[in-house]
Amino acid sequence: MGEPTYSVAWHGDAPDPSALCAPASKPLPERVDWVVIGGGYAGLAAARRAAASGARVLLLERGGLRDGASSRNGGMVHVGFGAATSALVRDFGHEGAREWIDLSRAAVRRIAELCSAESTGLAAVTGVDPQWSPTGHLELARAPRGAAALEVEAELRSSLGIPVRLHDRTHTSEIACSDRFAGSLAVLEGGGVQPARFHAALATAAVASGVDLRENVRVRGVLRGAGAMIVETTAGRIRTEHVFAGVNGLADEAFPSLRRRLIPVGSYMIATERLDPALLAATAGAGEMRFDTRNFLSYWRPTPDGRIAFGGRTSFWPDSIARIAAALTARLKEIHPQLSATSITHAWGGRLAFTLDRLPRVARIDGVTHVAGCAGSGVALMTHLAEQAIDWDLGGDTPLPARRAWSPIPIPYEGRPWFLPLAGIGFAMQDRWEER
Ligand SMILES: Cc1cc2nc3c(=O)[nH]c(=O)nc-3n(C[C@H](O)[C@H](O)[C@H](O)COP(=O)(O)OP(=O)(O)OC[C@H]3O[C@@H](n4cnc5c(N)ncnc54)[C@H](O)[C@@H]3O)c2cc1C
Repeated sequence: MGEPTYSVAWHGDAPDPSALCAPASKPLPERVDWVVIGGGYAGLAAARRAAASGARVLLLERGGLRDGASSRNGGMVHVGFGAATSALVRDFGHEGAREWIDLSRAAVRRIAELCSAESTGLAAVTGVDPQWSPTGHLELARAPRGAAALEVEAELRSSLGIPVRLHDRTHTSEIACSDRFAGSLAVLEGGGVQPARFHAALATAAVASGVDLRENVRVRGVLRGAGAMIVETTAGRIRTEHVFAGVNGLADEAFPSLRRRLIPVGSYMIATERLDPALLAATAGAGEMRFDTRNFLSYWRPTPDGRIAFGGRTSFWPDSIARIAAALTARLKEIHPQLSATSITHAWGGRLAFTLDRLPRVARIDGVTHVAGCAGSGVALMTHLAEQAIDWDLGGDTPLPARRAWSPIPIPYEGRPWFLPLAGIGFAMQDRWEER
């Protein structure tokens, strides 16, 4: 069957946005209105929004545009946050929780709008179809205890306006094409995009709006000068009015204050070979996005080119991609024995970021506007919040996540999460306890 190649399956079926960047030989402008840092969804959506106001916008990416999480994620566009709905209700009360859920639902609607076939959709504007499929998603519990927790979640989410449906073991096994789950919760909103296509479409749309895209330019730091911000880069200095950073899980030494507030975490994916349509249907069912309810989460979905893409976290200890790919392959085949003879052709990883309360933030830190911490919900949230953050800088409403305090993590910590392996032991024990 062979070993998977360590490459991103999505990249093979999407245009490479590097082609849109100015050549390295072109000097940076000395002055612009906005410098946007980071070439993922947040940076691209922010840059496009800022350019739509007629501003001169320069986007700087440290490596290649596809280096961040944005072209290598699961492409799941789902309602919700890293924090459970019950935690939202506990911390904010029912009406406060509704505000957060409304934000998430608005983010999902924004992706559907960007991916629509209308003349304003990305496909019409750029010629790159993000392959949106409005399937909703399925949350799957391994054991009766988890299924009971889903019942509580279902009631809460319904009361907050989210359309959901609960399924018992028998029905779950039919729709999930797997008999490994004790129950499931279907969320009938959201769906999936082909993440690298969505990323390439956002990059193309940003350039069409006049954004100057540059790769291989690292921002070293941002200073407040007399009447302007000064952005120090590996290719020179730029004066600007505004600075937006969408650096998230890849924030480096240029952003020490951000790093003290974020916990970067690796997530990994594998993809199967292209499946025979009958086997694909017998595995993917109606094609919903799927994830289980473990701390050591698994998530999976069919891809528009006929594979199953499967992701998850296997450990918080440093590990090789080969071992992680083997562990994910074993998990996929345990859930779907119908794939026992199927080859795994791709394996890759990326980095996302959590905040301590697992809620995203929009914040101005040292004169820079940041959007970060969307955990595994960044496809919709990073895109939508980046647009909101630009509107905020231009005098618009304060985004909800900017109204929540955001303190540094209250332990000795500079951005390297030394405590994750310890937390991982606790998470694994909790997963085992839930399934005993
Ligand atoms: C394997 C995986 C699966 C995921 N699955 C899902 C999913 O199914 N659904 C979902 O909603 N979310 C998912 N996520 C999370 C989602 O991908 C992220 O939340 C989102 O892509 C973050 O976008 P971003 O633009 O903020 O950051 P990124 O896309 O990570 O981009 C940040 C960029 O900033 C650049 N940068 C950093 N420092 C500097 C500097 N000093 N100068 C210049 N550039 C710099 C980096 O090189 C990088 O390109 C997943 C993430 C991973 C890794």
